[in-house]
Amino acid sequence: MNKHSGAVLVISGPSGAGKSSLISKISKDIGDFHFSISTTTRPIREGEIDGVHYHFVSKEEFIKDIENENFLEYAVVHGNYYGTSIKPVLEALHNGKMVLFDIDVQGNAIVKNRLGELITSVFVTTPSLSVLKNRLEARGTDSQEVIDKRVKMAKREVQRISEYDYLIVNDNLDEAAEKLKTIVKIAKLKHSGNEINEFVQRWEDIDE
Ligand code: ADP
Ligand code: 5GP
Repeated sequence: MNKHSGAVLVISGPSGAGKSSLISKISKDIGDFHFSISTTTRPIREGEIDGVHYHFVSKEEFIKDIENENFLEYAVVHGNYYGTSIKPVLEALHNGKMVLFDIDVQGNAIVKNRLGELITSVFVTTPSLSVLKNRLEARGTDSQEVIDKRVKMAKREVQRISEYDYLIVNDNLDEAAEKLKTIVKIAKLKHSGNEINEFVQRWEDIDE
């Protein structure tokens, strides 16, 4: 693996917290990165593009991918399957790119377990539950039943904020985006244990 590679940033938070808005807002300012396009069985929303926002597949295709061990992690979220394909992630890391994941709290726990110190994680949420409800309703992409499910799930997700390195309360979008940019910079500076060991070894070998 490229010596300067290995940065992985996990972004989680309730649906409607503003994760996608924040990622698209900072995307031009954070240099070269790879956004991990998840695979999902959830129905495509208006405005979404297959292969850009997600790879939309049937449940049968998803289960085949699980059996073929194609996922770094996968989870059932709000009744649909979501998973991160391992191959593009490894390729991006190999090429020294920063990898961005928008995955849920279950996914974060698995990825943290598997990639350990490569990970920096941030939890994004709204200032309150009622703001979350308003944003989901204003987004207008989900039925009331789906919104209720997501709001209920949000209450459970925020219980797990302590599993994350950073918390962003997305009240003002510009301010939240600045915070996320800072976290990206920090994630890029974080070196894996192997790189640090190599550095210490080289440092000790250098004679004055
Ligand atoms: P997520 O990706 O976390 O599900 P989105 O990025 O789709 O969330 O944001 C949910 C809705 O809230 C969208 O309609 C978006 O335009 C809006 N939104 C995002 N951030 C803010 C903010 N800081 N203030 C007001 N509305 C916001
Ligand atoms: P949405 O349906 O609103 O796009 O996403 C719903 C939830 O699924 C969000 O919390 C999002 O972070 C999460 N999610 C998206 N892709 C993945 C994935 O590949 N793995 C996991 N574990 N969660 C994901």
